Amino acid sequence: MTETLSKAREILLRYSLCGRCLGRLLAYDKPGTRAPEAGEEIMAKLLREALALLNHSRESAVALIKALSESGYRPAQKIAEEQGLRVEARICPVCLGRLTDGVIDEVVAESVKRVSDYEFEDFLVGAYIPKYIASVEERLFSEFGLAESETLRKEITREVGSRLEALLGKPANFTSPEMLILVDIFTGTVEAKPASLYIYGHYFKNQPNIPQTPWYCSTCWGAGCERCAGLGRIYPDSVAEYVGEPAMRMAGAIGYKFHAAGREDVDVTVEGTGRPFILELIMPRRRRIPLETLKEDIERNSRGRVKVDMLDYATHSDLKMLKVSIEGSVKRYSAIVQFERNVSIEDLASLETALRGAVIEQYTPTRVLKRKGEKIRKKRVLNIKSTLIDTHTVRFEIEADGGLYVKELIHGDAGRTRPSVAEILGNTPTNISLRFLGILKTLHHPKQPTSNHARPK
Ligand SMILES: [Zn+2]
Ligand SMILES: [Zn+2]
Repeated sequence: MTETLSKAREILLRYSLCGRCLGRLLAYDKPGTRAPEAGEEIMAKLLREALALLNHSRESAVALIKALSESGYRPAQKIAEEQGLRVEARICPVCLGRLTDGVIDEVVAESVKRVSDYEFEDFLVGAYIPKYIASVEERLFSEFGLAESETLRKEITREVGSRLEALLGKPANFTSPEMLILVDIFTGTVEAKPASLYIYGHYFKNQPNIPQTPWYCSTCWGAGCERCAGLGRIYPDSVAEYVGEPAMRMAGAIGYKFHAAGREDVDVTVEGTGRPFILELIMPRRRRIPLETLKEDIERNSRGRVKVDMLDYATHSDLKMLKVSIEGSVKRYSAIVQFERNVSIEDLASLETALRGAVIEQYTPTRVLKRKGEKIRKKRVLNIKSTLIDTHTVRFEIEADGGLYVKELIHGDAGRTRPSVAEILGNTPTNISLRFLGILKTLHHPKQPTSNHARPK
């Protein structure tokens, strides 16, 4: 304690910390002590020390009484008055006098009000600390060797958090809270930030010409012009909108983001096991939405053109997995291709042999060169099966590395993709109709979210 006291004296003679901030800085060796009581105790001891010194070492006694008074310690202010000392209380340079139980109660009450619109199971409190305050605090830490002291931020979040736990009847969650409550004791303001709600699923589209995301007119970017007949877009609808809009309404969210495991060209259908996606609903008011109803709404709104399946709640880490999973995944396609000239069964047999397991070298396809830079990529064809439908028409089933441009694999892109079906057959495709059949052996299917709360399926 004597060490603590001498440190406290040293600090107070240079900074007019309030009792609570002093207590927080120095109470680290006394677990379970709250900062206000710790500060009070230290200040009382220092005042007794000053009073004992008053008769034989008046100068240092007066300095200490003044320092304690400037810090706002009432008993010291009374003594100062009795001794005829002129002192004015100063504002604590760390909390600006705002770290009081009164202010904490205020932001707690405001927090309760702010979160009342939202459904959530657990929460985390964050505290806004102005930069210059944080730097004053850091200077104190290094100047007085207080590396183990609790920070202002920690004290605020702990105090506010424990009161909110009691008031809301919900636990704090330090890893993936459903609600983030940002408090600012300096202004008394509170912000409620509900975590995004993630919904996993697979989508299917049985017709081409529905882009995955809204396809805006690149001339007017949505404003409407001659080229797009005033619509502002090239295609009237999209998978993202069919899935996102009803989900957004159900969750009372302010927006959504549609994250998919890759994307198909607009003229490619999605069948088989479908394409995995995660819908992110932003600032949702509700976190339990009837997924079965959502599924039906999507199908009805799109008149059956877009369907979803395997809907389930997911987490932010599932979203990361979804993005990573595209790398190293294997995708299945089926293509109906019409050729310029006759194709024989023998041609197809040697084609299969040549392409099975082949590494395809592809320069960025001509059709996407405007958007993406020139680059060569090497992707494998793992398997290819072909069936002759008529003399000019072949049906292919292809399994290939994710990221292989399949249309270019077929027509060769004027030699920019090699080898290609066109090159091996020595025959030019005149029409390619492609279907995406799903992703093989990749995605872990998200389990229930990491929080422990049971959710309705
Ligand atoms: Zn303070
Ligand atoms: Zn336009």
